This record gives sequence, structure tokens and C-alpha cells, in this order.
Amino acid sequence: MSDEKIPAKGAGDGEKFSKVRRFFGSFRLRLFITILLTGAVSIAAMYITAHYVCSNILVEKRVDTAYDHLSKMSVKIVNNMYVGNPQNAPQISSELSIAASLFGGRIIVADSGLKIIYDSFSAEEGKTMVSTEAIKAIRGGLSRFISIEKEYAELSMPLIDHDNTDGGPYIGVLIAKISLEDEIAMIKDLEKFLIVTVILLSIVLLFICFLSSTEFAKPFKRIEESISHVSDGYLDDLVTIGGYSEVRRLSDSFNDMLRRIEQLEVSRQEFVSNVSHELKTPITSIKVLADSLITQPDSPPEVYREFLRDINDEIDRENKIISDLLELVKLDRKEGNMHLATVNINALLEKIMKRLTPIASSLSVEIVFESYRDVYAMIDEVKMSLALTNLIENSIKYNKENGRVKVSLNSDGKYFNVTIADTGIGIPADSIDKIFERFYRVDKARARESGGTGLGLAIARSVVLMHNGAIKVESVEGEGTTFIVSVPVSFKIGAE
Ligand code: ADP
Repeated sequence: MSDEKIPAKGAGDGEKFSKVRRFFGSFRLRLFITILLTGAVSIAAMYITAHYVCSNILVEKRVDTAYDHLSKMSVKIVNNMYVGNPQNAPQISSELSIAASLFGGRIIVADSGLKIIYDSFSAEEGKTMVSTEAIKAIRGGLSRFISIEKEYAELSMPLIDHDNTDGGPYIGVLIAKISLEDEIAMIKDLEKFLIVTVILLSIVLLFICFLSSTEFAKPFKRIEESISHVSDGYLDDLVTIGGYSEVRRLSDSFNDMLRRIEQLEVSRQEFVSNVSHELKTPITSIKVLADSLITQPDSPPEVYREFLRDINDEIDRENKIISDLLELVKLDRKEGNMHLATVNINALLEKIMKRLTPIASSLSVEIVFESYRDVYAMIDEVKMSLALTNLIENSIKYNKENGRVKVSLNSDGKYFNVTIADTGIGIPADSIDKIFERFYRVDKARARESGGTGLGLAIARSVVLMHNGAIKVESVEGEGTTFIVSVPVSFKIGAE
């Protein structure tokens, strides 16, 4: 039977769908659309403004020129009393005719009864005008009408004679139809030019959109590649991305995170191998002891008893390592796991000292406690008790015969300080930085003899750090060691 995998029905569709979704949700597409929209709005605004401004300037200028000319003509008509007697002022008729051909249109003059006395087309003379513009003009109103579609403008104005006492100042009307053909032709040319410009600008815009969105999205693509490389297990693959500062900051933070993950990974591997080693040691001893008993069935009962006692010790040791490990794991869960309460530290230390007195006596070590004031602090009593017990127990265990341990408590109101000074064997200078590491022991044999697991100081440090405190150590080999623990009296979540 062939091992070849048959792709699940619809799997290809799913992949295609997610690719489409990724495309539509991409930064690149959004950037492309944003630049495109901004550019398109600018081009449209440019087109509309240019079209509007040019059209208006051309048409308005033409109409204003015609208006000025006709105003002057109207004054001449009145001054020459053309309305009452057109035959007496033939030069006015020819000037009106010249003006009509100048504007490529038609000029009509009517009297106060709206009877046409002059028509540059000579078609309506003698007839009466009935248009609303004419009626408005004979009442003194000015009107101005522009039709871009029909390519003309119409101006109507009254002929005013202030000296006319007979029937009022409005003695007639002047109506002109002006051709806008040339202006509209120019506007159409301008439109063509604008459309070509818009097309060219749109092509350039699309090009800019494509280039900039590709360019801006590049660093993200590189970060994505790096992250997937890291996901494949290459933790040492740092990202080096130049470009804009946000991306540089992102890649710096990413690299910091990578370094941290790498450190955690190294310490996790170290921890796992240490744990396996430490857990295996008592089991190996138990196995050797049990094997010897099995291979020597005739051994006397005292030998059996001694071997069984040794097996029992190894089981106790295994137990201690497991409980210390569990304690450490619990401490790793941080603040959420704390049961805080206000505790009298003097009483707490006295309790610990009392509990440790039998061990100290058995090793001929004198332990003394001295406190300068009553100290109350917000702590997790169980955890803090464990940390201080580990420290004091160490100063008893790593002491000399007839040695001394002095525990003192003081406070400055903000912090309380516990100093544990012993006259013991001390710690070599090259080990002092390592003693807080999990499973580190200066003298493995001695630690083993005294039941040490190498986890006591790691636990103590975790507890103190959880309380936002600090732990310091000073030691002279052969003379003694002093541990100083400083912890804030009031606990603040997230404080440094
Ligand atoms: P252990 O269970 O071995 O005591 P700890 O983590 O408590 O583990 O301590 C780590 C090592 O630090 C000890 O094995 C010992 O070598 C050294 N040490 C700790 N406290 C003292 C001390 N007061 N004097 C001398 N050495 C010490």
C-alpha cells in the first residue's frame, strides 16, 4: 500500500481562503489604499479647482467686459435721445451694430413701452418685448444670465434719464445676448489638458502606492521571517533591521526577548539535567545497597539493618529534593501566589530560632538572636519563614565546632533588615557569585553529609525577590559568612 498522503478535500480551498484573508488584512494593502485615497482626493481637488477657477475667470471676464461696454453705450443712448428718435442718432445704431458683432451676439433697444426700436438682427423692430428680463429692466432692475450649455450670456439693463420728468427715469431697456463660444471652446481644451494630467498623475500615484507600500512593508516581512526562523528553534538568529526608528525599536525589543528566551532555555536545560542528576543519585545508591543485600543473602542481621538504614536515608534525601523542587516551582508563579498579612518579624525569628536550637546544639553551635525594636511587616509568613530558616540553618550547618551564629533584626521604617552572621567555614571568593544558583554547592560531599540539596539559597532568594527585597552576602573563607536580607515593611505589587 502506498504511503502517499491524499490531501483532505477542501484543504486547498482553506489555504487559498486564508491567503486571501491575509492579503486583505495586510498592512501593505492598507497602506496602499491609504496612499491611493490621499492621492486620489488631492488629484480630484486639483481637477475641480482648476476647472472651476479657469471656467469662471474666462466666462466672468467676458461678461464683465460686455457689461462695461454696454453701460457706456446706455449712457450714450440716453445722452443722444436715441430712444425717442433713433433716426437722429444713426452713429448710435452703427455703434450698437459694431458692439453686437464684437460680442458675436445680438443687441436690442426698446422704449419705455418695451417696443423694440433697435435690433442688431433687424428682425424684431417695431414689435413689443414680453420677456421677464425686459420687464424687470424697465422697472430699474439689472439682470445677468449665463448658460454654459447653450454657450451664451444675456445682460439686461435699464436706460436711465434722470432729467425725464414725463413718466420717470426709466426710458427704455438695453438687452444684449453675448456669445460664449470662444470661452467654452477654451474651457473644453483646458478640460482635455486636465484629463490627460489626471491620467498621468494617477499612473504616477499608483506607482508610488505600489513602491512605498512594498518598501514600508519590507521590514515587517523580515521580522516575520526571523520570528518563524526562531519558531523553528534557531534562538541565536538575531534580527538586524535598519530603516525607520519604530522598526529598529521593534527589532531591538525582539532581540532582547530572544536573548532572554535563550538564557531561559539554557537555564531550563541546565535545570532539567541537574534535576535528573540529583534525583538519580539517591536512586543509584539505593540500587547499589539493595543489590549488595540480594547478592549476599547470608549477611548477618546487623549488616541488613545498616544497609536498610542507609536506604532509608537515601529515600529521605530524595524526598527532601522533591519537596524543595516543588517549593521552587511554586515560588516561580510569582505575586499571585502570595498570602500577605502583617506579621511581627521578632516573633517569627524567635520561632525559627527555637525550632533550630536542637540542630545547633547537636553540632555544638551557639545561636543568638538580637533585635533593636519591634518590627511589623506585610509579608507571606510561610514563605519568609522558609527563606530565613534556610539561611539560619546554613549558618549552623556550615559552621565549626563551638562556632556561633548571630541573628539580628533592625528596621529604618521602610525596610526591615535581618543579618545572619556566622563564624563558620566561609565561602571561597570564586563561589560567592554562584551560591544562589539551583543545585550549586561549594563542597558537594559536605553538603550531602548535612542533607543539603543545593536549593536552599535559590528558594531564599526567590522569596526575598517576591517581597521586592534584596539579599546580600559577605564571606571570608575560614572565618565566617554574613547574609543580609532587606525587605520593605509594606508590600507594593509590581514595585522594583
Ligand atoms: P545546601 O542545601 O547545599 O545547603 P544552599 O543553596 O542552601 O544548598 O547553599 C548552597 C551552598 O552555599 C552550600 O552547599 C554551601 O556550600 C554554601 N553555603 C551556604 N550558606 C553558607 C554559609 N553560611 N557558610 C558557608 N557556606 C555556605
